[in-house]
Amino acid sequence: MKKVIDDLGLKTPFYGASSGQRNWVGRGDKLNIKSPVDGKLIGEINLAENKDYESLMAEAQIAFPIWKAMPAPHRGEIVRQFGDALRKEKENLGKLVSYEMGKSLQEGYGEVQEMIDICDFAVGLSRQLYGLQMHSERPGHRMFEQWHPLGVVGIISAFNFPVAVWAWNAALAWVCGNVCIWKPSEKTPFSAMACQEIFRKVLIANDLPEGISNVIIGDRAIGKLMSSDPNIALISATGSTQMGKSVAETVGRRLGKSILELGGNNAIIVAEDADLNHAVPAIVFGAVGTAGQRCTSTRRLIVHESQFESLLEKLKQAYGQIRIGDPLDENNHVGPLIDTMAVEAYLNTVEKAQNQGGELVYGGQVLDGEKCTSGCYVMPTIIKADQNMPIMKQETFAPILYVTSYKDLNEAINIQNNVPQGLSSSIFTLNMRKAETFLSNSGSDCGIANVNIGTSGAEIGGAFGGEKETGGGRESGSDSWKAYMRRQTCTINYSTDLPLAQGIKFDL
Ligand code: NAD
Repeated sequence: MKKVIDDLGLKTPFYGASSGQRNWVGRGDKLNIKSPVDGKLIGEINLAENKDYESLMAEAQIAFPIWKAMPAPHRGEIVRQFGDALRKEKENLGKLVSYEMGKSLQEGYGEVQEMIDICDFAVGLSRQLYGLQMHSERPGHRMFEQWHPLGVVGIISAFNFPVAVWAWNAALAWVCGNVCIWKPSEKTPFSAMACQEIFRKVLIANDLPEGISNVIIGDRAIGKLMSSDPNIALISATGSTQMGKSVAETVGRRLGKSILELGGNNAIIVAEDADLNHAVPAIVFGAVGTAGQRCTSTRRLIVHESQFESLLEKLKQAYGQIRIGDPLDENNHVGPLIDTMAVEAYLNTVEKAQNQGGELVYGGQVLDGEKCTSGCYVMPTIIKADQNMPIMKQETFAPILYVTSYKDLNEAINIQNNVPQGLSSSIFTLNMRKAETFLSNSGSDCGIANVNIGTSGAEIGGAFGGEKETGGGRESGSDSWKAYMRRQTCTINYSTDLPLAQGIKFDL
C-alpha cells in the first residue's frame, strides 16, 4: 500500500504544510488513520483549525473570479483532463479507497469509474447549461432566464463513498463556474487527498489557481464552520440524517442554499410472481455489498407470504456462500465495517431487534481469526421481523436485513413507505399492473424506485437523492446541475414604449 500511496503523490505516513506540498495544511490535533482491513496505521494527519479554513477560503475567493470568467466549455475541458487523469490513476486510487474504507477492490475501482463517468457527463453539460426563453406578455419585449455560478461551494462527504460523492458534486459545480472546498470524512482523508493531488496537477498544468479546488481535513467542527459561513453559497452535505438536520438548521439560519443527501432505509418488495433467480442475487448484493454501508443498501425485505419461506431458505443458502475477508483480495465478496464503533452499533442493533421480537435467522456475530484481524469484520445478518418493530425504522450502517411478509400489494407499499427515510426502493414482479402501481403516485415515496433491480447501484445519469429524512437533495445526473447555479430572469424591452406588466397604467 505504501507504493500505491507514494505513486499517488502522497508522502507516507503523511505530509503537512512544511513538506512543500500545498494541498493540505492542518494546525489542529493529530489523527491516526488506521485501515479497517488489517488495523494497520496508514498515516497520521493534523486536523484543520479555523485559521486553516480561513486561508483556504481566501484562496477560493481569489480563484472564483478567474474560474467563472472562463467560458463554460473551457471549464469543461479542465474537467475532461481530470477525467483522463483519473483513468490513469484508477488502479492506485481504487486500491487506496478499498484499503482506507474497507470496500471490495471491485467497488473501489467502481467508485473511481463513477468519478470518470461524472466527469464525462459534466464535460457534455458544460455546453448545455441552457436557460429557457419565454413569451413576454408585453409587445417588443424578450424574456428569458440564464444561469450563473454561485461562488464557493462547500462539499461535506461521508466515509462510505470517500471519493465518488465529491466528484458528483465537484465536477458539476466546476463546469457551472463554482470553486469548491471539500471536507471529506475524517475517517477517509487519504483518498480525498489523493483526489485533490490528481486535480491539483491538472490545474497547475493549465496555469490555473489551485484554489479552484481545495480539501480540508477536519472533524464536524469544520463542517459546522463551513455551514455557518456566509462566504459559502451552497453546502452539499452527504451523511447521516442527524448531521443533515444540523447542517440544514445552520445553513437555513443564514438563508444559504443546501443539498442534503442523508440516510436511507431501503426496501425491496418481492411479489408472488417475482423471478427469484433475479431477486435473490439483487437482494444479497443490496444487503451485504459494501458490508451494508451504502446509503442505498437493502435493509428491509417485504416478501409476499406465498414466497416467504422458500425465499428465506434461498437467502440462507446464498449467505452461506459469501466470502468475508480482505477486500483487496478479489476472491472475497465482503470486507470489514469502517471501525469498531460501527461493529458496536451492529451488535446493539442485532440485540435490540431480538428484544423486539425479531428472530435471528443468519449471522449476528463478529468475526475474528487470521482473515479478520482488525476487529471490524461481521457476519451478514438476516432477521425475521414483524413490520411493527421500531428498530426497522432506523438505519444501522451494517449488513443487517429484516425480512417481513405481506398479503397484498397495498400493504407492502405501506410497509415500504412507513419509515422516516425515503431514498431507494424496488419491487420484483413480472406483473405490469403491480410494477406500475409501485411507480405510481400511490406507490413508493422514495427518490429512487426500481423494478426488477435492487435498491443499490445507481447510475450517474439520473438525479440521485431521496425524500423525507433523506433530505430532498438531488445530485449527479439529469438537471441536478441547476442546484449549483443561480437563476436569473431577464426581460429586454426593444420597443418604443414602456408598457407595464399586467396592463397597469402609470402615466405621468
Ligand atoms: P456522518 O453524518 O457521521 O458524517 C458525514 C460527514 O459530515 C463527515 O464529513 C462529518 O465530519 C460531517 N459532519 C458530522 N456532523 C456534522 C455537523 N453537525 N455539521 C457539519 N458536518 C458534520 O456520516 P458517515 O458515518 O460518514 O456516513 C454514513 C451516513 O451517510 C449514513 O447515514 C448514510 O446513509 C449517509 N449517506 C448518504 C448518502 C446519500 O446520498 N443519501 C450517500 C452516502 C452516505
